[in-house]
Amino acid sequence: MRVERDGDVAVVVLDNPPVNASTAAVRAGLLDALRATAADETVTGVVLIGAGKHLMSGSDLREFSVDELPEPQLPEVLAAIEAHPRPVVAALSGATLGGGLELALACDRRVALADCRVGLPEVGLGMIPGAGGIVRGLRLLEPDRLLDLVVAAEPIPVGVVGELGLVDEVVTDRLRDAAVAAARSTAKRVLSTLPPRTGKPGLFEETARRLISRHGATPGVLAAAGAVLAATALPATAALRHERAEFTRLRRGPEAAARRHLFFARTAVARAGRPKAGRPIRTVGVVGAGTMGAGIARAFVSAGADVALVDRDPAALERAADQVARAGRDAAARLRTGTALDLLSDADLVVEAVVEDHGVKAAVLGEVAGVVRPGLPLATNTSYLDIDALAATAADPERVLGMHFLAPAHRTGVLEVVRGRATSQDALDHVLSAARLLGKLPVIVGVCDGFVGNRIFSAYRHQCELLVEEGATPRQVDEALLDVGVAMGPFAVADMSGLDVAWHARRRRDAARDPRERYSDLADRLVEKGRLGQKTGAGWYRYVTGDRTPYDDPATEVLIAEARAAQGITPREIGTVEIVERVLTATANEAALVLAEGIATRPGDIDVLMTRGYGFPERLGGPCHWAATRPPAEYAAALQRLGAALGWGFRPGDPDLLS
Ligand code: NAD
Repeated sequence: MRVERDGDVAVVVLDNPPVNASTAAVRAGLLDALRATAADETVTGVVLIGAGKHLMSGSDLREFSVDELPEPQLPEVLAAIEAHPRPVVAALSGATLGGGLELALACDRRVALADCRVGLPEVGLGMIPGAGGIVRGLRLLEPDRLLDLVVAAEPIPVGVVGELGLVDEVVTDRLRDAAVAAARSTAKRVLSTLPPRTGKPGLFEETARRLISRHGATPGVLAAAGAVLAATALPATAALRHERAEFTRLRRGPEAAARRHLFFARTAVARAGRPKAGRPIRTVGVVGAGTMGAGIARAFVSAGADVALVDRDPAALERAADQVARAGRDAAARLRTGTALDLLSDADLVVEAVVEDHGVKAAVLGEVAGVVRPGLPLATNTSYLDIDALAATAADPERVLGMHFLAPAHRTGVLEVVRGRATSQDALDHVLSAARLLGKLPVIVGVCDGFVGNRIFSAYRHQCELLVEEGATPRQVDEALLDVGVAMGPFAVADMSGLDVAWHARRRRDAARDPRERYSDLADRLVEKGRLGQKTGAGWYRYVTGDRTPYDDPATEVLIAEARAAQGITPREIGTVEIVERVLTATANEAALVLAEGIATRPGDIDVLMTRGYGFPERLGGPCHWAATRPPAEYAAALQRLGAALGWGFRPGDPDLLS
């Protein structure tokens, strides 16, 4: 923090690299600068500006995990800005988020650089703004607009919020000069002394209802709606107290802790996934133009790469080209397709996405190695197959590794990067560079059946099926898990992906399975009846053409009853609490086993993969965080109940590995 002079204007430069986060030291420095400039009669105005790219990108989340935040806290600093005898102007740049935007809102005027983004991300972190973001925001925005902004919780280009009135002036360059000029010409305008804006009658309620039905009645969304409402009714000082109290209550709660954990875990994944060296990736070869190949091609052309897509089936290539065309004309122009592998000769990386069959994949990888440049990394998108065994068939095993895209490949934010026993650092770096190009977080894992994501997801789904076998209905299980925040119920997911995929995976494991192990054949029975899910009009649920809504199906009930009878199971009532506990415990336990085997490196890696790639609830922080934050005795008892339900062969993982 330093105070410079521009004639009669004091320019307070915030300097806390790399992103100018708000910490106790930054706030103390600001407070000192405000006091000094207030006492200095020669100062006619003050500018707050960032030394680097950002004015203030937000709060340092590491401070948030303690019960009491370190002093001075942000509201005290903001009160000092409002009480300053001379106008204070905020110069917004970079990402001005959370506490940064709240700082700007306490100023008398806001001047922003045109490429700046602003926002209030707190709801995404399980909290609400706590330093006047809502109360002062309501002096500039109508309640419905404000609630939309707070619940969206994402950075918004300043051009958009400028139109809404959140900033006063947008400049394309010379931000400091513009802010200094504003400090000379502006009068004091303390937002919290202005009346709150009101909107059209009923509009706020309508917005709140829409947002709750879209995002769920989460503590953050509800508290945000409550705080906006309170700010419409209470004097500013009382409304600020309410906003702060709600912020503090949520900050100390489990959801905010879970979301902070994920934030830190994502940072660690990004750090571990930084390539040590890397060659540029301009052209990517993709073999197999089915569901995944098309999505992978679309992801790469959207990221600016040229793609050579090969499939032996011209019809598949045509369908894939149609899909890639949805990425826009410029992107689609970067796609070449063909049935011959020599199309891949100039590729910088090849991703194989042909059918899930060891023999076919080994043959394809062998042929590809013959046409591409020597030493080029060959990535396979296999879901379950043994990459070490695939590599063993290759002339150059160190070039082979897994690049497990999750569907839909052009949208999912994570990528499972599977490092084989022989994979070279060079091949790994190359794939990490590709992940960076795609803007996907690469979670590096080792080889086992299903790797980390599908293996843990299989344990999750298996437990759901066992609960149905014991007496629950698929809908009960789906709804119990939807209530804790999964993106989609497991049985609805199975119907969407197709029951045949997991069926093939189970058949591959048949030989290795001990007959004493508990096994549910419910899904097998559905597949045997041709019920593969949405694509055949029925799976666990039934579907009406053109409608993806899962409807209950009496035929499923009959199949379930037959399966229970065959196993001699008398169905019992199973409550929501038991469903959630059993399923989450089974998921976490598999995670502990994966960690013990060294297939995943950190519990946070698993949590990032399962939340970003498999729809596991962010509000629970991922399976590892969920388990690690249970009281140990409670988790141990749940593990014991799980073991009793599974019987022979149950392996309890070490809970200590989960934190
Ligand atoms: P798909 O059946 O839709 O597509 C496979 C394509 O490979 C077909 O177009 C087929 O013509 C082509 N193909 C087969 N043999 C070939 C050969 N010798 N040369 C060239 N092309 C050939 O399958 P998919 O769902 O896209 O899955 C592909 C791979 O991705 C599999 O390994 C699968 O396990 C994996 N995967 C699938 C998903 C998913 O959700 N579908 C998710 C992650 C990974």
